[in-house]
Amino acid sequence: MNEFDLIAHYFKRPAKNADLGVGDDAALVSVAAGHQLAISADMLVEGRHFFPDADPERLGRKVLAVNLSDLAAMGATPSWFTLSIALPKIDEPWLAAFSRGLLAMADEYDISLIGGDTTRGPLTIAIQIAGSLPRGQALLRSGARLGDEIWVSGPLGEAAAAVMHRSGRVSLADNIAARCDLRLDLPTPRIALGQRLRGIASAALDISDGLLADLRHICEQSACGAEVWLDSVPFAEDLAALPDALRQEAILAGGDDYELCFTASPDQHKAIISRGVELDLGLTCVGKIIHGDIVQLLDANKQPLPITFHGFDHFAYES
Ligand code: ADP
Ligand code: MG
Repeated sequence: MNEFDLIAHYFKRPAKNADLGVGDDAALVSVAAGHQLAISADMLVEGRHFFPDADPERLGRKVLAVNLSDLAAMGATPSWFTLSIALPKIDEPWLAAFSRGLLAMADEYDISLIGGDTTRGPLTIAIQIAGSLPRGQALLRSGARLGDEIWVSGPLGEAAAAVMHRSGRVSLADNIAARCDLRLDLPTPRIALGQRLRGIASAALDISDGLLADLRHICEQSACGAEVWLDSVPFAEDLAALPDALRQEAILAGGDDYELCFTASPDQHKAIISRGVELDLGLTCVGKIIHGDIVQLLDANKQPLPITFHGFDHFAYES
């Protein structure tokens, strides 16, 4: 099997949303009048983002999920993606499982693989995703305003608990570890939520590096500070058994949840609650936007708590 057979066999499918898909020098797509393109990329490297023995079907789903999550955070509707992949060798069972997971996920979100690049090298998977949204309606990081409420979707921390368990920092019961693993391996991109927040949220992003670290990005770009109420941050039942310090670290600094964090005027409080009911998704107000330029953690008595952990930064530590 050569490079072209591999592409034809595992990655070439009729392109649904595109004018021209895999097979030419470039793909062709059309964007509806009055819409903007939203484009994002994410790369996963073996040994850094996933374990060498990672299940390839789950990996196929996850690599697309993390890209979909970025478009969700913008409020965009995803339509197309490209796949650039470096493979150490042609391992057909691995490729079959990986493409099965990837393309199943693509079908579930009604997006098409329209091109890419395939080369030999250490296992690296890079996806570029594109979608569209009505002009001017994207959810930016720069729109938070003084007094806005800060919200998060879903309970946080299970993906981080799975990482803690795998690295031996905690020991979870088998059934709990399995549920946490699922959240780490198969995050659900909050596409519908992002779209339903257009016109409601003032700023948004997806939580990939931990709530506090990601919220800092909103603060920097919106030139504001934030306070987060520790007792309000929702965590899954499964985390109840963790020691307090580790649970706090999981929900505040754990990456990989891929839930959305967004801000909105208090006038939108009721509208947001009803979006959560419509989408059957937990939406919780966890703090507010304040003066300043730091993210503060407050206890139940609104007293500041020290922040002793950091979100994930690939260049922060040598490892
Ligand atoms: P070129 O030499 O013109 O860059 P390639 O030979 O790399 O093109 O790729 C041939 C076609 O297959 C192109 O349409 C490209 O987009 C597509 N392609 C290559 N690798 C992948 C992949 N991993 N997934 C999907 N499409 C791919
Ligand atoms: Mg070419």
